[in-house]
Amino acid sequence: MTTFFQSTIQSLATELFKSYDSYKASGIVSSRFTQAEMLQWLHPFIDQHVFEKSVLGTSAEGREIALYSMGDGSAKVLIWSQMHGDEPTATMALMDIFSFFTKNPEHIAAKTIREKLTLLVIPMLNPDGAERFTRRTAQMIDMNRDALALATPEAKILKNTRDTYQPEYGFNLHDQEPRYTVGTTQKITAVALLAPATDVSRGDNSVRLRAKRVASTLAQVLNLFIPENLAKWDDTFYSTAFGDNIQKWGTSTVLIESGGWRGDSNKFFIRKLNYIGLLVTLYAIAVGESSKADVAVYEKIPFNMKLGCDYIIRNAVLKASNQTVSVRVDIGINFDKRINVLTGQMDDYATIMEIGDLSAFTALEKEVNANGGELDADLIKIDHSFSAGKIELLLKRM
Ligand SMILES: [Zn+2]
Repeated sequence: MTTFFQSTIQSLATELFKSYDSYKASGIVSSRFTQAEMLQWLHPFIDQHVFEKSVLGTSAEGREIALYSMGDGSAKVLIWSQMHGDEPTATMALMDIFSFFTKNPEHIAAKTIREKLTLLVIPMLNPDGAERFTRRTAQMIDMNRDALALATPEAKILKNTRDTYQPEYGFNLHDQEPRYTVGTTQKITAVALLAPATDVSRGDNSVRLRAKRVASTLAQVLNLFIPENLAKWDDTFYSTAFGDNIQKWGTSTVLIESGGWRGDSNKFFIRKLNYIGLLVTLYAIAVGESSKADVAVYEKIPFNMKLGCDYIIRNAVLKASNQTVSVRVDIGINFDKRINVLTGQMDDYATIMEIGDLSAFTALEKEVNANGGELDADLIKIDHSFSAGKIELLLKRM
């Protein structure tokens, strides 16, 4: 027997995957962008009355934070992205979704979502953080630990919006470090989900159960494209986090974390997965299908584990001049961009994160087999950072 999921949801997901390039928002060339750039992308959608814009307030530095609402259905869905300024992937996907509604207003998914749901979207909740590409707000606060104190104007805006509209559903959109793995499978996590707990006992009430069904629906969609790269977060209750509290306040909330993908530093593929996953899941909610989803699909997703790094040198020999014996080691290295204090320029740095047996680890960028080659012991120090261009010097003959 063919289920509704297999016949309708699956074919919608496949269609959106294939047609993505013609429907996506144009003009996004990098995942590093400011609010001013995002507002430029939003302009054509405003001109075409795709949504209604209402100003919710301003950030600590006076940047406008707005709600973009669409549809007039009875079930309300609140979607917010980039409460951490350096987590832009889902914001790009939201632009794609707006673009889809602009270019395809008569598409069955667009029509059904508009008829049955009211979408309440806050893209880039932390525009000051986005300006600096940092996690925290301009007042150096992690907004995701400000759900109860509401010290920041941005957190107040999110709380007020939730309380004003009392949405049945919520999507809390983030990026996670790209080096997480799906359990111990040595597969990089592309997307991680969570239906957050509402208290320390982590039991299911009806609100969380509904969120788990939404997460199961989303997981079934994502499993079509990334069956080995979907993980879930453990559900430890964070008393001051937004996802946990919004769930507690009665909005069935799913956290979506955009992870990593080999060779895709802008995360455009994961942006596409967000676009398809959100659109199809919204459609499933609209037609009443997500409430039938099997919670076991969500429960069975492997946990996110931190068993990845950017670069691994395997099977090398390490011996310092003052040591009597050598050791066989793998070296795990991560890259990051930082300001070079000497030049004031952004430079690529490498940091040695782990030394030892990394057989359980996988590398996001590259793995090198040293075949017993000797490391330059003077350069191998845990947590040691150096210019990424010098990585070849770690092995004496690389
Ligand atoms: Zn985040």
